[in-house]
Amino acid sequence: MPIYRYSIAMVLLALAGCTQTPATPITHTPSLASSTPAASAQTALPVANVTPTQPSLAKSQSSSTAINCSSPATLTPSMTEGPYYKAGSPERSSLYTQGMAGTKLILTGYVLTSDCKPIAHALLDFWQADAKGVYDNSGYNLRGHQFTDDSGRYQLTTVVPGLYPGRTEHIHVKVQAPNGPIITTQLFFPGVVQNQNDSIFDPKLLINTQNTSDGIAGAYDFVVNAR
Ligand code: FE
Repeated sequence: MPIYRYSIAMVLLALAGCTQTPATPITHTPSLASSTPAASAQTALPVANVTPTQPSLAKSQSSSTAINCSSPATLTPSMTEGPYYKAGSPERSSLYTQGMAGTKLILTGYVLTSDCKPIAHALLDFWQADAKGVYDNSGYNLRGHQFTDDSGRYQLTTVVPGLYPGRTEHIHVKVQAPNGPIITTQLFFPGVVQNQNDSIFDPKLLINTQNTSDGIAGAYDFVVNAR
């Protein structure tokens, strides 16, 4: 993660007389211990009906519980899984461990239907590279799945992934409403120079980020089909 852009952002905020607002921690209620992770349901992944227009979802929800969604919302675009997915990730909302290298990231958001209804107990299975751009392919470092709480909300604590050859910064995720199709996609970070050189970068999958005293607060809402 280029440090300079956050530094620039902080300077601009200071010049504008702005005060940074730390992200509000969100209480996540683990649920659905008996649910089957998408990891074990990898056959016949449905392809989402993606409309190549923006999802009109506001993504700055790190300090608010409001759902900003206009119905009908555009489905979250699907994206290639890449070569580093591993089934069977542990259920956990934090992939971060004390002393882990990189910039801490707390990503929050909702899983919604296209008519803007939050989906409780939706599965989110995240995996990513570490701050040096390396995946843990022997274990489950920086891999984990979780479920949205009763309000359809999720929170992921992790670090900003590093770059690796040919790719900009990204976090992989599979999202699935209960009994719905699995959507495989990737999230990106704004202001990363390499975004423009990554052939699969999609601005519709940009996380909304905000600097905090503890790292970065990010927000992204997913819109998926539910059954
Ligand atoms: Fe990747």
